Amino acid sequence: MKIYNLVGVAAIALQLLLSATLAPDSLGPWWGMTVGSVYLLLLWFSGGLYISNILHMGISHRALVYKPWFLNTVMFVNNIFFLYVDPKRWTNLHRLHHKYSDRTGDPHKVTGDGFWKTLYLCFNLYPVTEDVAKDDIFKTWSFRVNSHPMAKHLVFVTSFGTLWLLFGDPVFAIGIWFGARMFALWVNMIQNYWCHDRRFGTRRYDDANDSTNIGEWFPVAATFSACWQNNHHHHPHLLRNTHDPSEFDFGYMTVRFLNSLGLVKATRTGSILPGNSVTTDITLD
Ligand SMILES: [Zn+2]
Repeated sequence: MKIYNLVGVAAIALQLLLSATLAPDSLGPWWGMTVGSVYLLLLWFSGGLYISNILHMGISHRALVYKPWFLNTVMFVNNIFFLYVDPKRWTNLHRLHHKYSDRTGDPHKVTGDGFWKTLYLCFNLYPVTEDVAKDDIFKTWSFRVNSHPMAKHLVFVTSFGTLWLLFGDPVFAIGIWFGARMFALWVNMIQNYWCHDRRFGTRRYDDANDSTNIGEWFPVAATFSACWQNNHHHHPHLLRNTHDPSEFDFGYMTVRFLNSLGLVKATRTGSILPGNSVTTDITLD
């Protein structure tokens, strides 16, 4: 098994272990593990919709346009109950990551940074001196609330507090809260480290960055297809990250489903086809 998959399995095992051993008597270890698993699944799906589908493809790259009520609902639910991410800050960091991929100016990593350095950088980024996220959407009330400096403190209370309220045990609550975030950290490291080190994955395009494609179903599903980094860096404005029908694209499957419900449409730049093998069947805005 590849090392990145092994670490992902270990992250899930940690969540199961924490939820079984810290479960209150009223739940017992099996129900504790069930609760820990359901919480992890909900956090993964909510975070994938919000970060990968909305913040990444929707706002940062302007490939998709969502119904405002749906976008705001996902943002508030995810940030209040699951994994808080400041939308304006994330967009700024991500655009800088594309502008300076693997070079000075990339907040996440530069060529030569190893596993531990990149892990450290998940918490303490390289200095960010530019603001390239000045879109009008960040001036709307919902984005100003979610990017408010107090938001990250308040959401700790709401996300952890909800688990405490539901299960009546602060130790169990903090255990599954923490375990789910270790899984999220692995998802982050798949993109920041394993997909930006030429020793892992494959490279379809020999561009001037270290991006690679990792295509096994487990990291693809975990990242909502963000681990097709080499494809994505070559065509960052395309609404999908796979460039061949043989490539598994969980993120695109979710976008197609949302499109069938009328919740999202493609922009013209999002659906430009960079090659004959790449197709998108998302309705245009
Ligand atoms: Zn991107």
